[in-house]
Amino acid sequence: MTKTVVVLGAGPAGLPIAHYLLRRTAKQHPDLRVILVSPHDTFYWKFASVRFALPGQMGEEKYMVPLAECFASYPTKAFELVIGAAETLDPKRNTVGVRVGEEVREIGYHTLVVATGSRARDDMPWKETGTTEQTRAALTKLQTAIRDARSIVVAGAGVTGVEFAGELGSAYAKTGLKDVTLVGTEVLPLEPRTKDDVRRVAKHELEKLGVKYIGGARVTAEVKDDNKKKGKTVVTLTRSDGSTETLTADLVVPTHGLVPNTEFAPEAMRDGALGYLKQDADLRAPGYQNVFVLGDVGNLQPAQGVNTDAQVRHLMTQLNAYFSGEPTKPYTFDPNKVQLAISIGRDRGTGQLGSWRLWSFLVWYLKGRYLGTNHVEAYAKGDVGGAGRAWPK
Ligand SMILES: Cc1cc2nc3c(=O)[nH]c(=O)nc-3n(C[C@H](O)[C@H](O)[C@H](O)COP(=O)(O)OP(=O)(O)OC[C@H]3O[C@@H](n4cnc5c(N)ncnc54)[C@H](O)[C@@H]3O)c2cc1C
Repeated sequence: MTKTVVVLGAGPAGLPIAHYLLRRTAKQHPDLRVILVSPHDTFYWKFASVRFALPGQMGEEKYMVPLAECFASYPTKAFELVIGAAETLDPKRNTVGVRVGEEVREIGYHTLVVATGSRARDDMPWKETGTTEQTRAALTKLQTAIRDARSIVVAGAGVTGVEFAGELGSAYAKTGLKDVTLVGTEVLPLEPRTKDDVRRVAKHELEKLGVKYIGGARVTAEVKDDNKKKGKTVVTLTRSDGSTETLTADLVVPTHGLVPNTEFAPEAMRDGALGYLKQDADLRAPGYQNVFVLGDVGNLQPAQGVNTDAQVRHLMTQLNAYFSGEPTKPYTFDPNKVQLAISIGRDRGTGQLGSWRLWSFLVWYLKGRYLGTNHVEAYAKGDVGGAGRAWPK
């Protein structure tokens, strides 16, 4: 009897699993049928969004690949692409409700892979904002605002904030075309789990690009002042001791905080605090042996592509055992290991691997040069994994 595997989400977690099921697992289990559900009809290479958010940096073909093309080689008997968003999940009845236009289509599954990730706040196109049209519109809006602004405040100094400020620095601040200020809650940019010397290098590299860093403060209010300041925004910064200061800018771009795409899932499957889905040690939803949770949507590890890639690779090696009804091996990882490569502008960077700080040249060579756009097509078609690495056999 056909076993339907529904994969929710076609990001770096869902897309490679769908390919792997069709290419490799189906060889041992020809009764599999894969249904891939995605509201975005293109695969979106978000790793480079900090660069293509600036006007005129790269063509859309470098970061959006039509999903229909990526899966064109599989027979319709084995594969269906559903362009829609999951709105409901009933894990007791093994069904998902997917909105396709005006209709909600109920799809039954034998196995479910939830890989719906998260989205950026305020419809920022760091990740998909909904459909491909909505992401395109968000990008155009941001690119136009950047083009027209003389002064830009980047609110949030995590990896996205540092990389985006670096791109703005390279393109504009370095030559005095625009003023760029990065605001972060910590004295140094990046998260506290990153080594101090890496964080100091990040700050120094940004300053070399003309980016001003304001640490220990958060943006707490933005008021458009059309009268006195001719359309400028008055930005209030609040420090941890409660003191405030203001600055003016033409544009404020938020880069902080992600929202998990889990509204469709029953409350009991979510972790209380932030709403991510609970994940067992074997990457399943607790209590549901046929529901896997992968990548940013899960609560096991920080939301990073390297963690998603590791989870995806692990599940790939367990699928044969799972569909054969054999025990699967647990997913293991070191919760203290920091693995980060941060591109800063067009030709510099920094990063950390365990307790090692990565050389700027290495980060530029491995990441910053292309931000992965040189592998996008092969990745989207399932031929290679992150950084061009082969998938497990
Ligand atoms: C600017 C930026 C740069 C980054 N750089 C790095 C880096 O250098 N290294 C690193 O390790 N990590 C990096 N990351 C993190 C990395 O992008 C994520 O960890 C990774 O994208 C997670 O993949 P995912 O598939 O789990 O989730 P997502 O990428 O969030 O994808 C989820 C998918 O689910 C879809 N979806 C959403 N809702 C629904 C629904 N209701 N039904 C069906 N589908 C749905 C979305 O359209 C999307 O395609 C970066 C992130 C950003 C934003």
